[in-house]
Parts: sequence; C-alpha cells; structure tokens
Amino acid sequence: MKIPVVKEILSANERVAAENRITFDASGVFVLNLMASPGAGKTSLILSTIDRLPEEVRPGVIEGDLASTIDADTIAARGIPVVQINTGGNCHLDAPMIRTALPDLPMDEMNLLFIENVGNLVCTANFALGADLAVVVASAPEGHDKPYKYPAMFASADAVVLNKADLLDVFEFDVDYFRRGLEMLNPGVPFFVVSCRTGDGVGDWVAWLLDRVDG
Ligand code: MG
Ligand code: ZN
Repeated sequence: MKIPVVKEILSANERVAAENRITFDASGVFVLNLMASPGAGKTSLILSTIDRLPEEVRPGVIEGDLASTIDADTIAARGIPVVQINTGGNCHLDAPMIRTALPDLPMDEMNLLFIENVGNLVCTANFALGADLAVVVASAPEGHDKPYKYPAMFASADAVVLNKADLLDVFEFDVDYFRRGLEMLNPGVPFFVVSCRTGDGVGDWVAWLLDRVDG
C-alpha cells in the first residue's frame, strides 16, 4: 500500500521539476544540482568555479541546508545573488522548494544557477529539481568506497567531482578503485579530480562545465 503513495509524491515532484525547467529555459539559465555528503566541499566548489568564470557568465546560487545561513552568507559576501532554503530538517531539496525560491533570484540577469543540495548521498538524487546537470561531489576524507556504498547517487550523475585531492595520500585514497566503482555504475561519466584549496584540477572542471553551458 505504501508504494503507490511514494510514486504519487515523486510524480508530483516531476511535474513541478518540469515547470522549473521551462522557467530556466525561458530565462536562459543553465542549472546544476550539486549533491554530496556533508563537508565534501560543495560550497567551496561553487566558489572556486565562480572565481574562474568568464565575465559574460553571470552566476546565482540556491543554498539548501537543514538549518543556518552560513553558506549563503559566504556566497552573498562575494556579491553573488543567493537564496537560502532551510528545509527545516528535510533531508533533500525538492522541485516545489526551488519553485518557491526563484522569485527571489534575478533570473533575467543570470545565466548559470548552482543549486547546492542538502548534504546527503541517500535520497537527494530521487528528487528532480529541473536542473540541466546532476553533479556529485565526493572528497578524499570520505574514502574510496563511496560509489560501491551509494550506487544510486553515482549511477545517475552527469559528472562526478572528487575534491580535496591534496589529501588523497593522507587518507590512502585509491583513485583507481573509486573510478572502477564509478565506471561500473555509470560508464564514461565525466570525472574530475580537484582540490578547491590548492586550485589543482578546478580549471579542467570549469572548462568542461562551460562547454555544457555554451552547448
Ligand atoms: Mg555547503
Ligand atoms: Zn531526503
């Protein structure tokens, strides 16, 4: 009896996600849904990416968190349009939450929107938001077994960014093992090894992203 209810909730979410998509397309805004465990570096990746954007790419950010405005404050301090969604304990963002946030963003002045999802590798991928790309951020301290333990997340990603590359040796992180797990689930998925702290690899990720935005 529970399964039909879950399906109904998901399909209601899909409908609003499709409406969001129409709004994004009409405003010419390319949208990323960034998903990761807490502390993987989603906010750092957003800021490192924005630092490397050419002038004509004008970004905005939606920050999803259980509570607080810490990440949104960091982004606003750089003069970037940002809206905070506090989910009040809900473990993922959904399409209606995004819909509610959109009037608070200067959509006509933006062409790239980063949505930072709630830190959670379990259910965030089940809720479409209307984004163009689903990006999963992993990090060295989390360990190289993440694709094996959270397959749904990695299987549906359009790109995977492995952050904190400067700590790979410290955590004895086996990048090949991680990559093999990823390839099994999602063959050929674009994969970037970066350090937002040192800047290593971030340029490759940004170049790939800008290709998608232009296309
Ligand atoms: Mg964050
Ligand atoms: Zn959830």
